[in-house]
Amino acid sequence: SKTLHIIGGGLAGSEAAWQAAELGVQVVLHEMRPVRKTDAHQTDGLAELVCSNSFRSDDYENNAVGLLHEEMRRCNSIVMSAAEKAKLPAGGALAVDRDVFSQAVTAQLEAHPNITIERGEVAGLPPQEWKHVIIATGPLTSEALAQGIQSLTGEDSLSFFDAIAPIIHKESINFDVVWAQSRYDKAGPGGTGADYLNCPMDEEQYNAFIDALLEGDKTEFKEWENVPYFDGCLPIEVMAERGRETLRFGPMKPVGLTNPNNPDVKPHAIVQLRQDNALGTLWNMVGFQTKLKYGAQADIFRMIPGLEDAKFARLGGLHRNTFLNSPVLLDGQLRMKADPRLRFAGQVTGVEGYVESAGLGLVVGRLAAHEILGNEIDAPPKTTALGALVNHITGGHLADESNGIKSFQPMNVNFGLFPPIEVTKPEGVKRWRGPDRGKAKKQATSARALVDLEQWR
Ligand code: FAD
Repeated sequence: SKTLHIIGGGLAGSEAAWQAAELGVQVVLHEMRPVRKTDAHQTDGLAELVCSNSFRSDDYENNAVGLLHEEMRRCNSIVMSAAEKAKLPAGGALAVDRDVFSQAVTAQLEAHPNITIERGEVAGLPPQEWKHVIIATGPLTSEALAQGIQSLTGEDSLSFFDAIAPIIHKESINFDVVWAQSRYDKAGPGGTGADYLNCPMDEEQYNAFIDALLEGDKTEFKEWENVPYFDGCLPIEVMAERGRETLRFGPMKPVGLTNPNNPDVKPHAIVQLRQDNALGTLWNMVGFQTKLKYGAQADIFRMIPGLEDAKFARLGGLHRNTFLNSPVLLDGQLRMKADPRLRFAGQVTGVEGYVESAGLGLVVGRLAAHEILGNEIDAPPKTTALGALVNHITGGHLADESNGIKSFQPMNVNFGLFPPIEVTKPEGVKRWRGPDRGKAKKQATSARALVDLEQWR
């Protein structure tokens, strides 16, 4: 009963198994491949990278994912040590040979005296005899297990498609153009009447924008990704294809709003942004889910007045993704409230990306191990990259339920998830430009994170 069962030997499950085993806990790691395959994995290896071979920026002072790398290295991460062994030249990024990487993880886990690897699907809720379980089955969780989880959480608690709209850093928005106002000044429960940010367009700008959407580069989908669109969740470029005016009568309708910067001219169309995190540092583009290619998205969305210099915390996308409505379903220990013997880690909790998934595995592996050892610990502080991710999925996220939409969506790590930090102009510097200040803030955030991580470690 003191054994930790981990379901899924991907990025998160492999890291969780390693962390718990290193703390002295007996681990059984259940991986369904090769007995059962997924639509994206190609090999039998643990921690297989299904698409790109990049762990993104390795710059821990200036980049949030780089900081996450560094925190994981300092926490004895198997994913980071295997990445080191498999490293390829890629400028400031950490790219790996995917086979060398996966083989390194697999060999180290197989050789660990506290780890047993069992190949086979856990086809439904884990048996009751398993008292400590981590579910790390990823975006392509097998159907039988997904149904089991759904039976615990209620019908619509697991999302199967990920239709996401871009998210923008507030500090990159031009407030000479953009103003705060809710449609018809409606306050709603907990609202102020000025809860949205509005970007106005005249007719010429609107037409140019529609043309750009229609011409923009679209992602090609594999067959399994060829999902039916949900009602009310059409990609904007699909809406634009249905008619030039569709968006103006849909998410871009210019009604119920008055532009204080230009009160006499009625905008032809309006793009709205909605607050996306409790800190108010991140704003998502309402109704702008899209499958335009990333480069095209950045170019086209910067055509929107007020967003010319927009910095994107995340771009839009549409692909199959099984993830929980974690802010509602999980506690601060990543345990399912409805059945606390089950913990969750990785992409299935609503983080996005290889490194983020492995990072959650690291945290949850340690939390579970300490519980088994009888000395429970807290999740890392939210000033660290690991803790900011945990905070995002278990409570820091602002769920917008006023119109019945659960807005929790998968998220990459980024500095917008951290509590803000104040920086002062260095002495002797005459002109301190915005970018200098932004850089100083990132570096201060990283420095604070690494100090606070030591305490948790
Ligand atoms: P996974 O790495 O997928 O691991 C889950 C494991 O659980 C798998 O090995 C699976 O076989 C196993 N499993 C599932 N169900 C069961 C079961 N019932 N019993 C036993 N085992 C089971 N992120 C990036 O950073 N860069 C990218 O380029 C990228 N591309 C992606 C492309 C696609 C098509 C998808 C779907 C996702 C992509 N992601 C990418 C997102 C995400 O980071 C990866 O999916 C990442 O692998 C998630 O880690 P994980 O450990 O949560 O899940």
